[in-house]
Amino acid sequence: MARPLVALIGRPNVGKSTLFNRFLGNRFAITEDIPGTTRDRLYADVEWADHSFTIVDTGGLDLDTESGIPAAVRTQALVALDQADILLFLVDASSGLTPVDTDIASILRRTRKPLLLLINKVDNIKRELDASDFYQLGLPAVLTISAYHDRGVADALDWIVDHLPPASSEEDSQQSEEIRIAIVGRPNVGKSSLVNRLLKEERVIVSPTPGTTRDAIDTILEQGGRRFRLIDTAGIRRRGRIEAGAEQYSVFRALQALDRADIAILLLDATEGVADSDLHIASYVQQRTLGLITVMNKWDLIPRDAVAATDTLQHIRQRFDFAPYASVLLSSAATGFHVNHILEEAAHIWDQRQQRIPTAQLNAFVHDELQRHQFLRRGRLLKTLYATQVDINPPTFVFFLNDSSLIHFSYRRFIENELRRHFTFSATPLRLIFRGREDSSEAKSGPAGHGAASRH
Ligand code: GDP
Ligand code: GDP
Repeated sequence: MARPLVALIGRPNVGKSTLFNRFLGNRFAITEDIPGTTRDRLYADVEWADHSFTIVDTGGLDLDTESGIPAAVRTQALVALDQADILLFLVDASSGLTPVDTDIASILRRTRKPLLLLINKVDNIKRELDASDFYQLGLPAVLTISAYHDRGVADALDWIVDHLPPASSEEDSQQSEEIRIAIVGRPNVGKSSLVNRLLKEERVIVSPTPGTTRDAIDTILEQGGRRFRLIDTAGIRRRGRIEAGAEQYSVFRALQALDRADIAILLLDATEGVADSDLHIASYVQQRTLGLITVMNKWDLIPRDAVAATDTLQHIRQRFDFAPYASVLLSSAATGFHVNHILEEAAHIWDQRQQRIPTAQLNAFVHDELQRHQFLRRGRLLKTLYATQVDINPPTFVFFLNDSSLIHFSYRRFIENELRRHFTFSATPLRLIFRGREDSSEAKSGPAGHGAASRH
């Protein structure tokens, strides 16, 4: 799970980037060096009062300048409404309440997400009077601040921390460095043998406690300076003893493990080849946008010259062609053959899942690679206008289209493949979100008739 996301929204010049840079200042930000210039820096990881969260400066998403302020505001709101856990709405006391502010407020209010109105440029007590206009908006939480003079910023952070979604118990900042792995596959393919082999060969930091029945028990391992969490190790090891009829339960258990994982290791049995149920499990993995390593186990049972390893690898790739990012390995849990490659591959996938592509690079890609191709659908031209990466693990991108009703499976796949080819995402699935201009049509309720909205 990613950190909670806090979106900073407001029309141009109200002070968003000034406030964002305050958040980034040494006092608050834990440094995470996203490559690119400051302008590209849309995210700040902030630690405050023992909590950590990410603030996104939606002002950096104002790429559609040709259509002016409403489009820019709409873009920000669309991203924020979809992705954020908390909304910070920034307005400018020195310019007073504007119709655009009223529009934004009505859209944000509808999301029912925690919403804080920050009235900026209240540089001193005398200026508090300028802020009174904004109380008409009727938003329940209001603070007056001065981003420039660092007035009220700490209060805003306190408010954020009070409204963060409850963290799940296993999430703290340390664990974000762990690579969480679910080992899945049909009965008897060798899952518990693989786990036992890994426990023997790698440095075990936290062992599973045997004998506990109900709860998932994980094991933490180290290999090559990396930490791996094998999810529900006890469940896997106990599986051999589960009687017939408990198969449903073990599938359910595997799904629960997938929900907590970054990467799935799908074990196959070399003596049986790829079964349909293997493809089902892979589709669960795919739905969750996890990394996937398919491992053909029991390779020691295949006579030397019966089949070439390359043919087998090729065959597996074909069967799993809906997941072109999947890694394919051969192994033997019995002899230990290639077992250490499995975690190395997981680390490689994990690294790709942590990448952030700066918005400028992404939009150069949109311009150079996507806009050159013309996609016609129902006689209309589908165009990607711009894009932004909104999350990692999995890398998540929002693409803004001229008309999202024209989106088609093949175009989605085209974009994903181009992204994979152009940036180093060969080994991880990507999450793509599409938004169109018409997404704002449901919210033409503001006085100026140009509101921003999403489908929610
Ligand atoms: P953005 O377009 O919303 O990102 O706004 P900027 O952060 O670029 O700020 C616009 C202008 O407002 C800049 O000239 C800032 O220096 C100024 N500004 C920002 N915060 C304050 C503040 O608290 N007080 C005053 N007086 N000016 C501010
Ligand atoms: P699980 O049900 O997926 O956990 O599978 P197990 O680890 O219990 O293995 C099922 C059977 O296959 C056991 O008899 C294992 O000894 C055997 N087995 C597991 N991995 C290998 C392997 O790589 N080679 C050989 N020859 N046998 C294996």
